[in-house]
Amino acid sequence: MPPVDPQGRTINYLRLSVTDRCNLRCSYCMPENGISKITHNEVLSYEDLYRIARAAVAIGIDKIRITGGEPLVRKGIIGFLQQLADIPGLGQLVLTTNGVLLEEMAAELRAAGVKRLNISLDTLNPETFARISRCDSLKRVLAGIQMAKDYGFPIKLNMVVMRGINDHEILDFAELATNSATTVRFIEYMPAIREYNWQGLVVPGTEILKRLAQRYTLLPLEHAEAAGPARNFRIPGAPGIIGVITPVSHHFCSECNRIRVTATGQAKGCLFSESRIDLKQSLHENSDVLLTRALAEVIDTKPLQHQMSTEECHHQAFSMSSIGG
Ligand code: SAM
Ligand code: SF4
Repeated sequence: MPPVDPQGRTINYLRLSVTDRCNLRCSYCMPENGISKITHNEVLSYEDLYRIARAAVAIGIDKIRITGGEPLVRKGIIGFLQQLADIPGLGQLVLTTNGVLLEEMAAELRAAGVKRLNISLDTLNPETFARISRCDSLKRVLAGIQMAKDYGFPIKLNMVVMRGINDHEILDFAELATNSATTVRFIEYMPAIREYNWQGLVVPGTEILKRLAQRYTLLPLEHAEAAGPARNFRIPGAPGIIGVITPVSHHFCSECNRIRVTATGQAKGCLFSESRIDLKQSLHENSDVLLTRALAEVIDTKPLQHQMSTEECHHQAFSMSSIGG
């Protein structure tokens, strides 16, 4: 059984970051001049990451998402995923990627036992892609998505909606869910790096839904327990699903089912809290008992909610790539 935190929330989900490195430089994720890279010595070995995953499953977590940085840029990732997929009791092994390397790697990911992919895609326009990601890789991402579909992956596309940058593409993205069995999720921009005037970028979920309703009838889907933060909708006749995720305007902290571990072994109960537990000590002492205790403590001390709204935020600026989003 998954553990339950003191607020009564069932915690069944670990987001495990394997690297802070990335082959893109998304403007909402990292500052233009990049981030101070952690050294190879600080990044946990696959052996240590595996031990954390096993300890998480031992306390009842049944879903692990591999994230980063860009998880597919870390050497040896396929072998690591194969190992994870074999952990008894792990129900779902899923991965979040920017899609740049998917064309080459979709087949291996499938064979390794990854069940689903979340692919981050914020625009269908090459210039806007280059503006957001500071790289010119849209073609590769689109080819990667096609390859993942060809290998039978159920696809979720995650679009971070930003006013004045890509919000005019909301309906184009919704159309993708009408053409194929793709889940398209619209995510409110979060002020992680605290950009100047970030408030101007947030398009609240209510506005996203209003814009979608101009063209489509949205039928709400029932929210399954521990299913995650999206409010999901079906469009009559469409094979895909539309989801809206509103971490800023309408937080879902009371239903939050996750903990996070960074690539340097920092375990966190909340993306926006400074509080963290360093797992390196337990790893160093080679003690699985200490490791499971540390993870249990993260769950026991998981903050009630974050303090961010569409007008203000109080956290220290951080790059999502250092935590895993
Ligand atoms: N590189 C991979 C990718 O982009 O999918 C995985 C890591 S990325 C940090 C994980 C997710 O965080 C992505 O879907 C990304 O769009 C999202 N993300 C990063 N910064 C964000 C922000 N400021 N607001 C909302 N989502 C953000
Ligand atoms: Fe890289 Fe993902 Fe951050 Fe973009 S959102 S810079 S792809 S880690």
